[in-house]
Amino acid sequence: MTDDDGARRASIAVRLAAVRGRIARAEEAAGRGPGSVRLLLATKIQPVELVRAAVAAGADLVGENRVQELVAKGPDLADRDVEVHLIGHLQANKVNQALRWATCVESVDSLALARRLSQRCEAADRDLDVLVQVNVSGETTKFGVVPGDAEALAVVVAALPRLRLRGFMTIGARSTDEGVVRAGFARLREVRDAVVGSRAPGTAGATGLSMGMSGDLELAVAEGSTIVRIGTAVFGARG
Ligand SMILES: *Cc1c(COP(=O)(O)O)cnc(C)c1O
Repeated sequence: MTDDDGARRASIAVRLAAVRGRIARAEEAAGRGPGSVRLLLATKIQPVELVRAAVAAGADLVGENRVQELVAKGPDLADRDVEVHLIGHLQANKVNQALRWATCVESVDSLALARRLSQRCEAADRDLDVLVQVNVSGETTKFGVVPGDAEALAVVVAALPRLRLRGFMTIGARSTDEGVVRAGFARLREVRDAVVGSRAPGTAGATGLSMGMSGDLELAVAEGSTIVRIGTAVFGARG
């Protein structure tokens, strides 16, 4: 280990504490209980040594975007008390690999993908937590079902064998206007409320809202986020 590595590890612990402080203040400002928001570390591009440093500093939930990275880092994290979610787009031909390491797929954005996950889980005799990803901003660069279709998709997903619908995920609008970003998060909450309120089979546990990143976590927590996904604020800017 070089001095640089040691310094990066130490700074990860410091930054992690700072992010926890931001979350705690946001919870308080929103009148929400301490611990009502989980911190997921978005570890894309980060080498497994730094992910382990974050886990050693107390991180218990990480998210990978690409199945390739999930597979590469999975073995190194499997023996630790850390939960791994897939938070990036999942192609049908990578479902088996994803299922090997992920305990939750946050990026379910089509019925075809949900059906495939369900079938593979049935074959493997296991359950899987899933979130439906919604594109609340309408930005074409983002994956996710449009808000108008989210309720219908969620109700069908919730009824599929072996899938446990745990809620919804979104990436906030890329806007400097806080009102626009907040409105998107509020939209995801409305989708969640409609689905849980439908009382359709399998929807009672769909209460989670994975929303908020390094730049907008406070807005997301104010709108009811239960998982914030943080990369840059802990690991620094990605090259
Ligand atoms: C990279 C990423 C994050 C974290 O974003 P930061 O701005 O680095 O905190 C969260 N969610 C998803 C889906 C990501 O790809």
